[in-house]
Amino acid sequence: MKVAIVTGAAKGIGRAITIMLAKKGIKVVANYKNSQKQAVELQEQLKKDGIDIDIFKADVSHREEVKKLIEYTIKKYNKIDIVINNAGISQYQLFTEITDEDWEKMMANNVNSVFYMSQETVKYMLQEHQGCIINISSIWGITGGSCEVAYSAAKSAIDGMTKALAKELGPSGIRVNSVAPGMIMTDMNQGFSKEELEEIKNNIPLEKIGRPEDVAKCIEWLIEDEYTTGQIISPNGGWVI
Ligand code: NAP
Repeated sequence: MKVAIVTGAAKGIGRAITIMLAKKGIKVVANYKNSQKQAVELQEQLKKDGIDIDIFKADVSHREEVKKLIEYTIKKYNKIDIVINNAGISQYQLFTEITDEDWEKMMANNVNSVFYMSQETVKYMLQEHQGCIINISSIWGITGGSCEVAYSAAKSAIDGMTKALAKELGPSGIRVNSVAPGMIMTDMNQGFSKEELEEIKNNIPLEKIGRPEDVAKCIEWLIEDEYTTGQIISPNGGWVI
């Protein structure tokens, strides 16, 4: 039996990943911060299919809360095989308008969270001499996005962590990869108008905006694979080639 933790699992991409993992028979500890109602709904929905998941509230931008999430998982399952660092925030604003507070909030939620989650988990993965860490970054971390300087910097930092950690942990049997989605229809993109979404769609070779399930499929392949590490894999419909 494999055990996975998914951060930010109550909605959007994290929710699709949780459903995919749980339906494969993997024990999932689904983390949420504010979306308690959606987390309970997800747990109840899966229960109807005879699948149990754990839900656990934690703000993963704080190490103490991450420690509680990991302690809960270890106490209950005694190991962690898979960590999906999915929790994240975005902010669309001019570079000149980014305050120190905005910048620190971006780094705390998108970068520190991955650092804390990975560091607190790896000690258990090292004992098992195996593990799989998948960090959700973004195409903007690869190409840079206008009016998304802080977000792009945070996602590039995640990709840098992925590559370095893959080298350091490869000899210990632990794989670390990034999945860098393009435009995926979730609450994160609710600020875009219909016209803006249409324009984006017209620039994507596959002519469609992605679904959370498209990212989950990519992750399903990555967790089954045994020879891929340190890679940035980008389900983006060909938007960035
Ligand atoms: P979303 O629906 O807004 O989900 C973001 C999730 O992150 C929420 O479930 C939220 O939890 C969680 N979260 C944020 N800060 C957290 C914290 N400190 N502790 C715990 N959970 C936290 O957006 P999404 O599109 O599914 O985003 C998921 C990931 O994909 C993010 O890392 C995002 O940057 C990345 N991504 C998205 C797109 C896209 O087009 N949608 C593209 C590329 C990359 P609560 O709601 O419980 O607070």
